[in-house]
Amino acid sequence: MEKVVILGSGPAGLTAALYSARAFLSPLVIEGPQSGGQLTTTTDVDNFPGFPKGITGPELIEQMREQVLRFGTRFEGRNVEKVSVKGNGIHIQCDDGEPIETMTLIVASGASARYLGLPSERALMGQGVSACATCDGFFFKEKEIVVVGGGDTALEEALFLTRFGRKVTVIHRRDVLRASKIMQERARANKKIEFLWNKDVIEVKDVSQGRVTGVRLRDSQDGSEIDYPCEGFFLGIGHTPNSRFLEGVVEMDSKGYIRTFGGSRTSVPGIFAAGDVQDPIYRQAITAAGSGCMASIDAERYLEGLSEH
Ligand code: NDP
Repeated sequence: MEKVVILGSGPAGLTAALYSARAFLSPLVIEGPQSGGQLTTTTDVDNFPGFPKGITGPELIEQMREQVLRFGTRFEGRNVEKVSVKGNGIHIQCDDGEPIETMTLIVASGASARYLGLPSERALMGQGVSACATCDGFFFKEKEIVVVGGGDTALEEALFLTRFGRKVTVIHRRDVLRASKIMQERARANKKIEFLWNKDVIEVKDVSQGRVTGVRLRDSQDGSEIDYPCEGFFLGIGHTPNSRFLEGVVEMDSKGYIRTFGGSRTSVPGIFAAGDVQDPIYRQAITAAGSGCMASIDAERYLEGLSEH
């Protein structure tokens, strides 16, 4: 039986692995579908302490991983389907291979980009619809692009997309941005970025052509509708926690964020949570890393408690 299994390989999972490895707990990291997590799809990270000139998301993850490997962590590139608790052990079922039994589990599976849920949006996925500017921006050179949302994600995507697009329009359902002041200033100062306020996207066009040609917008104030042309449609409307495999096992809030009690402990002894999967508020690389450290220390103390009994 494993002592510590960590689900997820973003800053929370890698920091938990670093601490657990240095405590000689020989952690096993199940990397999940997106190795490195959301940081691998961001560009410049200017707010992670210790990098005065900034660092890119993928580089930061690479450096964390290198540091973790120094202390002998094992990595497996598998996806978890279901977790269940059996006596004092935790049973992890993956989509392939043998199940894993462990004494403690640190859930650091992060969160995934949200979509509006429109049928047209689903139909045009990969044909102009994307939730990852870093992955797909390149395909929209000199094109007109829209980004939906009013938070930091939307503005960061919009700013990044100005490297490629002729024009980037941020479509927001209200007339006040949720994004941080600095991001607002940067976006407003960029001549390629325009804003459309009080607009809900009700359809992505044009499914019959098999590619994005525009969006149908409804004004949230007066209900009027317009068509707005674009070739790229990017989502920046927040994230959903990746916690489905724990449904009915640990307590979660109505959105699926895992509830933690006094640090990283969940409602089930031996299961700990760190990073975006349990954090609807801060969601920063640095807070994720900090909570990964907490989870590792909590798991270590839990194991000490077991060995005393
Ligand atoms: P937020 O929840 O902050 O913002 C989501 C935005 O999308 C809001 O403006 C919201 O509108 C809008 N939205 C949500 N659902 C819909 C919908 N169905 N239709 C239309 N619009 C919708 O999420 P973010 O991902 O932007 O940010 C999350 C956290 O991550 C924040 O703490 C942020 O600071 C951080 N972050 C930091 C970055 C950085 O520092 N560089 C980069 C990216 C994220 P409304 O405002 O009306 O609710």
